[in-house]
Amino acid sequence: MIVAQIWTDNAYRNFNYLIVCPESGEALAIDPLDHRKCLGLAAEKGWEITQVLNTHEHGDHIGGNKAVVAATGAKVLAHAGAKDRIPGLDVGLHAGDVVKVGKSVELEVLDTPGHTMSHVCLLSHGDQRALFCGDTLFNAGAGNCHNGGHPNELYETFAGQLAKLPDGTLIYPGHDYIENNLAFTLDREPDNAAAKALLEEVKGQDTDNALVSTLGQEKDINTFFRLHSPSVIARLREAFPDLPDDPDARTVFLKLRELRNAW
Ligand SMILES: [Zn+2]
Ligand SMILES: [Zn+2]
Repeated sequence: MIVAQIWTDNAYRNFNYLIVCPESGEALAIDPLDHRKCLGLAAEKGWEITQVLNTHEHGDHIGGNKAVVAATGAKVLAHAGAKDRIPGLDVGLHAGDVVKVGKSVELEVLDTPGHTMSHVCLLSHGDQRALFCGDTLFNAGAGNCHNGGHPNELYETFAGQLAKLPDGTLIYPGHDYIENNLAFTLDREPDNAAAKALLEEVKGQDTDNALVSTLGQEKDINTFFRLHSPSVIARLREAFPDLPDDPDARTVFLKLRELRNAW
């Protein structure tokens, strides 16, 4: 599997992706907002975009569909529940579906509500496990729930699905928010040495060659996976004095999400 991460350099800091079968050159474009860059890279490399996959229905993820379909005739795939909100949707996806790219790439569909209620993540099996997670999981952060989502479902997705994937899974999110997210982690957990070191490493990073984290690393530096950390809980109790000594993981997650909304 070839993964090309495409930095859009726009105000929303989107990442687009091409996932390519090295044997056939067929490619799937994930959220190809910057259709010029996506089509340009495919042309340069000799790849043929046959499918467009939207992780969810927000404009900064579907805005390039029309141009890519016009140029390539690609089919558009997204969560079945997004059919009324994504014009030209060809294939509605459900949990457990397998999206094939060319001869050698298979991507498992995860139904991952929270950021919106019609959000999918894609999990590649095979030589390298990788998760294409849209606006559900970011490097050192979690998606917001302001535009059609629910924090409770986002917690279920994190705890029930994402946290259970193998630690070596590569993480490919829909935006670059790593610096701001690490600053939030450190605000919540000032003694997190791994987050401190990583922030130094990625400050002003070349976003055309951005750091690709693993799930194991996220568990160390992403506050939304650190729901049992004594310092996270102690700091949270300063902000919410009514919390018990030993709040459950869901409560910690929801309170962190609430604080992040105003961060
Ligand atoms: Zn979104
Ligand atoms: Zn987005």
